[in-house]
Formats: sequence, C-alpha cells, structure tokens
Amino acid sequence: MSSNKTYIPPIYFGDSAYYQLEKYLNYKNFSKIAIIVDNNTKTLCLPFFKKNIKKVHDFIVIETKSGEKYKSIKSSINIWKNLIKYELDRKSLIINLGGGLITDIGAFVASTFKRGIEFINIPTTLLGMVDAAHGGKNGIDFDNLKNMIGTNNFPKMILIDYKFLNTLPENEFKSGMAEMFKHGLISDKTHWNELKSLSYQNQANLPKLVKKSLEIKNSIVRIDPFEKNLRKYLNFGHTLGHAIETFALKQNRFNKILHGEAIAVGMILEAYISSKKLKLPKKDVIEIKSTLRKNYSILDFKRKDIKKIISLLIHDKKNKNGIVKFALLNKIGSCSIDLGVEEKIIHEAFIFYAT
Ligand code: NAD
Repeated sequence: MSSNKTYIPPIYFGDSAYYQLEKYLNYKNFSKIAIIVDNNTKTLCLPFFKKNIKKVHDFIVIETKSGEKYKSIKSSINIWKNLIKYELDRKSLIINLGGGLITDIGAFVASTFKRGIEFINIPTTLLGMVDAAHGGKNGIDFDNLKNMIGTNNFPKMILIDYKFLNTLPENEFKSGMAEMFKHGLISDKTHWNELKSLSYQNQANLPKLVKKSLEIKNSIVRIDPFEKNLRKYLNFGHTLGHAIETFALKQNRFNKILHGEAIAVGMILEAYISSKKLKLPKKDVIEIKSTLRKNYSILDFKRKDIKKIISLLIHDKKNKNGIVKFALLNKIGSCSIDLGVEEKIIHEAFIFYAT
C-alpha cells in the first residue's frame, strides 16, 4: 500500500464474517463487549447474530431508539452513561449492529468514549452495507443540522451478512439502492446499467452489486478521506437531496421521506443541472430520470415548497457566504466538483422533475 493512501478496514462477507470476528475476539480478549442496537435490530437482527457466534460471550446490549430524530446528543449521552454503568474501559469493544443510524451514532460514541475505543460495524440495512458503515465519517445531528457533530475514525472491521436484509422493508431497501445508483452515476456506467435489474423482488445479483458499490465508495475514500476534493463526488444528488430532507422534516411533508428517496429526487434535479452546467447529454438526463422514477414515487412540489427548499439550500449554515457548490455529472460514470449554480437553473430543474 502506498504511504499516502488511507487505511481501509477489512470487510468480510457471509459465514467468513463470523469466523473472522470470532478469530479477532479470541485474539484481542476484550475486557467487555457492548453491542449497540436500535429497537428493531434488537428483535430482528441480534438473535440471528448471536446464533452465528459459536463461543458464548457475555455481550452487553445497549439499545437506542430507531429514527433519525434519535441520532442525537441525548441518545449519545444515554449510550455513554450505559458504557460507564457497565464499566467498559479502554480495552473494551463496541459492536454496532444496525443501519446507518446505529453505525453513525455507535462509531461516534466509541470514538469519543475514553478518548476512543475499538469498534466494529455490522450493517443490517442495504444503505449501511453499501455506504454508511464505510468511509470513517461518524456523527450525530445537532441544532436541526444533519451530521453536525462527529468524528472521522474507522472501525476495526466491517461484517456483511446479506441475510439481515430478509427482514428489511421494501422502502428501506430502495433507500439503499439510491446510494448504489449514485455510485454508478459518479464513477461506473457498467454498475449503473447492472443496477437497473435489481429490485426488492429480484435480488439475484445483490452480493455482486453490493461488493461493487462499496468498492466504489472505498476507492474514493482511500484517496481523499477528509473530503478535500475527490470525496465530494459522493455528494452528487445530496446537495438538493439534503435540502429536500430538511424541508420535509421541518414542514412535516412527504410522509417521512427516507434518506435515499430524497437523494433519488436530488439526483434527477442535479442531472438536469449537470446538463446545463457541464453538458451532460440530454439522453443521459432522460435515462437517469426514467430509471429513478421507476423506483421511487414522485413528489409533488408546490411553488412555495421550491422557494423554501432553495432558501434552505442557500442559507444552509454549512455553505460559505451563501454559495452552494455542487458535484455534477459530465456523463454517466464521470463527475466534476465545486460547481456554482445559478438559482434560475435550480428552479428549472424542479420544472423538469415535475414534467
Ligand atoms: P436506519 O439505520 O435508520 O435504518 C432504517 C430502519 O430500518 C430503522 O427503522 C431500523 O430500525 C430498521 N432496520 C435496520 N436493520 C433492519 C433489518 N435488518 N430488518 C428490519 N429493519 C431494520 O437507516 P439507514 O437508511 O440504514 O441509514 C440512514 C442514516 O445513515 C442516516 O442518518 C444518514 O445520515 C446516515 N448515513 C451515513 C453515512 C456515512 O458515511 N456515515 C452515509 C450515508 C448515510
């Protein structure tokens, strides 16, 4: 490995994942092991996980509530208090068993407890498997802003068992697919094309597609872990997608839209913007729109909604001097970053989305 490349933790799949985990647990002989779960992964995933671990361990189970609003400092405090109550120390381990919520908050809590203890991510949602469990960004929402407080720190390993997906609802599965589509759009046209046949009902190629998708993310993170340049590719669809998510949360609209569903809309809008700013061919824009529309329901944006979303975007505290920078597509499979976009084009993109 060249010295200027980031260390990416090992990723193990299926039965070999449990074998590698047990080997690691035996080798390290941790003082305590806490598993962080939410109320769903506690009942749906934890029993299955324990069944796959041969040796009897005295796992401490710490439960936090599911739902984005619980990716909070309050939940973090509750987990820290439990870690203290159960006397975890610097030689203890945290296992994060859940979707992006659990790997985000669990990794954050582990990275800050006693200045950082080891943790392992076991994603149980598709979005977690292809995206959230990887990349080393961990954190919580704060002051109504997503991922405002957090750490940049990698797990010791990531374990992927597709069997966890057997209980995942269809809308959550599709939410994960959105990030896979994004990986194809920003860097691999073949992956984009292969994803068109994936659905909740047809998961025949899922293992191959998940591996490809997480490899794309990790190949970017390896080069640019701190988002100085290349990692900004991963923001394609997220600039407007996040503004739509925030709008939906604040206005209680779009019936609890999921992260990936908002990103799918963001990708259609930003594909249109790409055609204006980077000359993404019209046929590619149409292809992106029709493929994503097949998978996600269409949101009905009123004029005043669009105004509010654009205002949220421009006044987002994360932007410098109100200048919004986009990651946009040159063509399917190729991306450019740091592109300023005029408000007029964003308005047009919403009209394109609706027609
Ligand atoms: P999530 O963790 O909230 O899980 C979605 C729902 O599925 C929850 O109700 C959960 O309890 C349930 N669930 C989890 N596993 C299940 C299973 N196997 N069977 C049945 N139900 C199950 O959501 P998510 O979509 O996995 O992750 C979204 C979060 O990830 C967001 O907070 C987002 O900001 C974050 N994220 C982080 C990164 C990163 O790089 N750190 C990247 C993308 C997204």
